[in-house]
Amino acid sequence: MELIDIGANLAHDSFDADRSAVLQRAAAAGVSQLVVTGSSVESTRKAIELASAHPGVLFATAGVHPHHAADLTDTAFAELQDLARESVVVAVGECGLDYFRDFSPRDLQRRAFARQLEIAAATGKPLFLHQRDAHEDFFAILREHRRQFSNGVAHCFTDGERERDAYLELGLSIGITGWINDERRGLHLREVVRDIPADRLMIESDAPYLLPRDIRPAPKTRRNEPAFLPYVVRALAAARGESPDGVAAFSTATARRFFGLPSQ
Ligand SMILES: [Zn+2]
Repeated sequence: MELIDIGANLAHDSFDADRSAVLQRAAAAGVSQLVVTGSSVESTRKAIELASAHPGVLFATAGVHPHHAADLTDTAFAELQDLARESVVVAVGECGLDYFRDFSPRDLQRRAFARQLEIAAATGKPLFLHQRDAHEDFFAILREHRRQFSNGVAHCFTDGERERDAYLELGLSIGITGWINDERRGLHLREVVRDIPADRLMIESDAPYLLPRDIRPAPKTRRNEPAFLPYVVRALAAARGESPDGVAAFSTATARRFFGLPSQ
């Protein structure tokens, strides 16, 4: 099966020692293309460097995560605008709101989010969206700006039917991670994914985070990597009553169309 990982934090320093081995294992597992998440100006720069070094295989997003919203100064914003125009950048984000951790004050989070919506509008590139415990404000901002941006994916979706339907109504897509493999907190998600249309559903590792809990034998470290993406495919297929090959085929086609990736 051929897979596309739409969210891998490969710029993360936990991959510094063995990044090329991680990419080799991903390829061996069938992951043919990956979108490297930019979550700060610095990691965006690094994601672009990685994508430039692996043309046709790695792509990048340009964004500032709500945790780092306070760092999006005028200078950083100008730099992010430039980075977002690079040809290997296929989306703006990750951006959004995170009221679960509140690492940046909420008003700064909303401001950083709105400014990245401006970048998406100016570049025409889709949004790679992050939301946790902030659905009301997040949805209100997206709805208000909906005419200005081309498309968006709610990455690492973990919410319920109400949020799913709200995003689908706005024409957004949904990204599913190994959260669905979690036999404790992922159970509700197994119901919710059944009614997501195949042409709006994509898969992502969110590596090094969210190691699927059903990997056997369990890896020695907690670090997740894109090579484990087939576990997400199998959990998603079981939840939807579909074959893993079928899920692989539609999620790959959806991701390729959404991000405008070349065929392999
Ligand atoms: Zn995220």
